[in-house]
Amino acid sequence: MFVSDCLGLNGMGHLTIGGRDTVELAEIYGTPLYVMDENEIRKACTSYRESIQKYYGGNGMVAYASKAFCCKAMCKIAIEEQIALDVVSLGELHTAESVGFPPEQIYFHGNNKTVAELIAAIEYGVGQIVVDNLNELDILNALSISEGKKTGILLRVKPGVDAHTHNFIRTGQIDSKFGFALETGEAMHAAKQALEMPGLQLKGLHCHIGSQIFDIDPFCLAAKIMLEFMADIRDATGKELKVLDLGGGFGIKYLPDHDPVAYDSYMRQVSETVKEICTKRNLTTPFIVIEPGRSIVGPAGITLYTAGCVKEIPGVRTYVSIDGGMGDNPRYILYQSEYEAMVANKADQPKTRVVTLAGKCCESGDLLGENMQIQDVQAGDIIAVLATGAYNYSMASNYNRIPRPPVVMLKDGMDRLVVQRETLDQLIENDLL
Ligand SMILES: *Cc1c(COP(=O)(O)O)cnc(C)c1O
Repeated sequence: MFVSDCLGLNGMGHLTIGGRDTVELAEIYGTPLYVMDENEIRKACTSYRESIQKYYGGNGMVAYASKAFCCKAMCKIAIEEQIALDVVSLGELHTAESVGFPPEQIYFHGNNKTVAELIAAIEYGVGQIVVDNLNELDILNALSISEGKKTGILLRVKPGVDAHTHNFIRTGQIDSKFGFALETGEAMHAAKQALEMPGLQLKGLHCHIGSQIFDIDPFCLAAKIMLEFMADIRDATGKELKVLDLGGGFGIKYLPDHDPVAYDSYMRQVSETVKEICTKRNLTTPFIVIEPGRSIVGPAGITLYTAGCVKEIPGVRTYVSIDGGMGDNPRYILYQSEYEAMVANKADQPKTRVVTLAGKCCESGDLLGENMQIQDVQAGDIIAVLATGAYNYSMASNYNRIPRPPVVMLKDGMDRLVVQRETLDQLIENDLL
């Protein structure tokens, strides 16, 4: 009935998350409010871990893409769940360090890492820096030598699989800002260079083919292309790489009719493909890394708002204004992402209205959705937007100088703040006269 397993309905007809009444949580903490269910997050971690165990003999690892939702509490959950962590900036690395995240379990990504970022990563002992280009390869080698370290790296390769369309296409496409192209020979050149560099240890290859993907085939195709390339590297240099990082991008259910791939079937089919190509090309099966972000945290979160004015424009549309918007969820204004919304205090009632959810920012485009079906809504109602656990808090801004909402984490029905609401004073604390 609901897009996420952690959501439900209680005897008062209120929406619940993790067994807790959302209307009560809104009263306690105020709105707008992000609420996340830790049990749901851990459940996702467990099913990824178990499927790697089941289909690939445990010769692999989950690396949570922290950009989806990064805060101390989440990094700590990742440690406890024994999953690795992707970071892409000093800020994410700092957050991980602040809770003592094991550096060897960190993957540092990014297409334009700064020298400061590379130095910080080397000094913290980050286990894998995912190198994007030749310039970075040279700089990282030089920095590692001067720090007296041998830095573990993966090379980011563009396998030329575009999974963003529903019917994914294998293109010769090299138009991406990320990584080395295969077809131009650039990736092979980089691999040869990296193997020669004294400051670097080339552990393996990485690819990431997109996000919110519902098909398994593009993942299998990417795995196949990457393994063939690993075999080509072995043939050309005599060196077998040990790690194959297949990236993330597993789709989640935002709308009731979305039908995401079960992690289990993903792992089963990808494992079969990997074993098949390895046999064919006489390769040792590599250590597989998968990097889910959205699918670990997305379904575990919701955002609660209070409805303000309901503006009916006859023959045009009905605007329902909420006390948040693009500042806490920029995904609609960025790429028209669709969400399900409901009136949390009337969750048992039928959805009889079709409305546009409008934020409070001074932008006409500040919407959370159009043509959204919702219960009969009035000012003062609590509106829940569902499956907002990924790329909402982490993409939030202070546009219009609106403080960012807090994050409440539920565990076994107990609530605790893991990110406090930003204060007005924090908004001006860096201002100078
Ligand atoms: C964004 C990203 C991910 C996670 O993607 P999701 O769609 O959130 O699963 C994984 N790896 C890399 C390199 C990424 O850029």
